[in-house]
Amino acid sequence: MAKYVVLLGSPGAGKGTQADILTKETGLAHISTGGLFREHIAQKTELGILAQSLMDKGEFVPDDLTIAMVKERISRADCEQGVILDGFPRNPVQADATKLMLNAMGSSVSVVPYIIVPEDVLIQRLSGRWTCRNSGHVYHTMFSPPEKEGICDLCGAELYQRVDDTVETVKKRLRIYMERTSPLIDYYRKQGKLVEIEGDQPIDSVTKDLLATLKK
Ligand code: AMP
Repeated sequence: MAKYVVLLGSPGAGKGTQADILTKETGLAHISTGGLFREHIAQKTELGILAQSLMDKGEFVPDDLTIAMVKERISRADCEQGVILDGFPRNPVQADATKLMLNAMGSSVSVVPYIIVPEDVLIQRLSGRWTCRNSGHVYHTMFSPPEKEGICDLCGAELYQRVDDTVETVKKRLRIYMERTSPLIDYYRKQGKLVEIEGDQPIDSVTKDLLATLKK
């Protein structure tokens, strides 16, 4: 049976990093709404142009556009075994839409790992983050620097700092997360699907805990 995993956690909790690893370990597809928006921005689509102005300010892209994008992505063949949703759902409207979307496919959310990281660590992590323009791979000046400054180890392309990874925007993103996304913690806890994961530990330890959760 297909597995639908919702990765919860604030910006900087390590959802993207862990989802990349879990995809390789489990064969589940990785759907990152932030990543999909960044692809649209790179391709200068209409959605990309709108998304960019909102993302730069740390604000959300409208629900209807985000939900339609996920609906299209989840219907593709590589999602047959299931998916890891990273950055979606991000508010109760999107959570209800996820439920409807999966019910229509004869399924439902399987498990919701919630990666918990203290706020001071989140700010430190997010404000040192550099992203590859080509592969989307994420580095950190302190924790996982590239071999050559400013260059991606994987593909040699240039690294850049996301506009929304600057300290002021990071603080705003954390505030918006608390207001709009944190209600999902209770939403999924009430359904018995939430599993708390200690996120302030080495990457491979977090992966180990997540894999144990997904196997249950
Ligand atoms: P992320 O890469 O998950 O940190 O997302 C980066 C930005 O993309 C967010 O700050 C939002 O502006 C936008 N975004 C990503 N996912 C969503 C979503 N589910 N709903 C609305 N906006 C989103």
